[in-house]
Amino acid sequence: MPSEDGDAMTKPDKETKEKVQKLAQWIVDSKGAAAMTGAGASVESGIPDFRGKNGLWSRYDPEEYATIFSFIEDPAKVWNMLAELIETIEGAEPNPGHKALAALESMGLLEGVITQNVDSLHQKAGSTRVLEFHGHCRSLRCQDCNKHYDDVHLYRTEHPPRCKCGGPLRPDIVFFDEQIPGAVIRESKELASDSDLMLVIGTSAVVVPAAYMPYQTKANGGRIVEINTEATALTQDADLSIFGKSGELLPMVLKAIKDLVEK
Ligand code: NAD
Ligand code: ZN
Repeated sequence: MPSEDGDAMTKPDKETKEKVQKLAQWIVDSKGAAAMTGAGASVESGIPDFRGKNGLWSRYDPEEYATIFSFIEDPAKVWNMLAELIETIEGAEPNPGHKALAALESMGLLEGVITQNVDSLHQKAGSTRVLEFHGHCRSLRCQDCNKHYDDVHLYRTEHPPRCKCGGPLRPDIVFFDEQIPGAVIRESKELASDSDLMLVIGTSAVVVPAAYMPYQTKANGGRIVEINTEATALTQDADLSIFGKSGELLPMVLKAIKDLVEK
């Protein structure tokens, strides 16, 4: 069966199957598990990550388009990218990986998801405790006076859309070189340190401070499990790394858990 990004579904090898089994057991035995996701978790929903060969980020260099300095300097230019990002996000559906995480939460086996993504796909899949580390694209706010606007589509009439005060509006995301809101850092730290198992899914684990969260779990004696198509900055510190697509591996983990609990 082809997966949504066009590649053939990869058949898991023996090692991968054993690792999936091990993770399933760890989740069942855990006193509290959490997940942290990055752009890779949404690649199979058609939203490219920063390294993807096609799509958005091959045309818009994030260094040039995703920093707060670039927005302040030329909001109209950055809105050309943001408009395309918002349209891509609005056309995307959760993939089986998002759905498996939502199922784990509803089974009482996952306390919450810390996500670096701004695409709302965890909520669309049914997850209820989603800590949006880098914000979201569901609403806008004024860069100058902070007034909120619920209608994200104001950009359809002008780039940048403008506040009543004249200031440029921006989505409720966190640009690079901007502070993460204190409340989301606090809640994420709390979730990570209260958890004895942290699943780190589809993130290159280099964007800080998000990349520090798994270490909160580890510092309290918990385990880190990584799911990624390739090795990352976190691999050497992970207790288990499962290499493959999250949209394929997470449903396998869910099935293995169901087999274990139904035994
Ligand atoms: P990243 O682009 O730096 O890394 C993505 C990681 O996902 C890589 O390590 C890659 O190997 C892995 N990956 C790719 N496809 C995968 C798959 N199918 N299954 C599992 N892993 C896969 O992304 P990042 O670590 O999230 O950091 C970049 C920043 O960009 C984040 O802060 C995020 O806010 C932002 N971003 C968000 C979105 C989104 O909202 N969907 C998309 C692009 C970038
Ligand atoms: Zn304003």
